Amino acid sequence: MKAHSFAYGDVKIRFEVRRRAERLQQRVAIHVEPDGRVLVDAPQDATDAQVLAAVKKRARWIGRHLDAIGARRALSLPREYLSGESMHYLGRRYRLKVTLRSDEPPGVRLRGGYLEVTAPRHDPTVLRAALDDWYRGRAREVLLQRLASIAATLRWVKTPPPMRLQVMKVQWGSCSPAGRITLNPWLVKAPRECIDYVVLHELCHLLHHNHSARFFAALDRHMPEWRTVKARLDELSEQVLRM
Ligand SMILES: [Zn+2]
Repeated sequence: MKAHSFAYGDVKIRFEVRRRAERLQQRVAIHVEPDGRVLVDAPQDATDAQVLAAVKKRARWIGRHLDAIGARRALSLPREYLSGESMHYLGRRYRLKVTLRSDEPPGVRLRGGYLEVTAPRHDPTVLRAALDDWYRGRAREVLLQRLASIAATLRWVKTPPPMRLQVMKVQWGSCSPAGRITLNPWLVKAPRECIDYVVLHELCHLLHHNHSARFFAALDRHMPEWRTVKARLDELSEQVLRM
């Protein structure tokens, strides 16, 4: 395979050429792989110039595919914590604003549509730590408050159960057999109704320690629309919440 590239607008499109004896003169087939590689099957006897001309003709099509892949990746790649990136809090989108200052300890605050983070230098590890701290602090306050407030409406909960925060890969919450509730601090990025659904779900486990019909009946009674809310949370968690 041979690598080539050409400029298209302000991006450089790179592609690899696979020579195929069975392909007819000047007919190339272009594949954009899910990882963004562009593969070109070309006839054995086509010249590089002919292949390049054929690929350039499809530049718009390739560019469109690469854009779509880039957009999907932006949602799943590790963040760089650059000003302008989106951050979520209570279901709203905020723009990250990074201010570099060496005379202050790292800090985070929400102001207007911005989540402002101050740090001595642009180091993604430091910025991430400052933001994670802030989210955990907000989670402790918001989730405890929702837990107390929802627990007060449930006749089977006499006092709000102990709660701890723990980042979990696949769960938003859990309830131990002893009745301790664990919540994922990143839940604070989700809309309030999603937070309430997870909290209620775990509180219903104090009544039924399983996912039986009676468990779901309790959930239905206290949040009839929980399926819609859960679907919204599932959709969001793919895209934005677990970062
Ligand atoms: Zn459950």
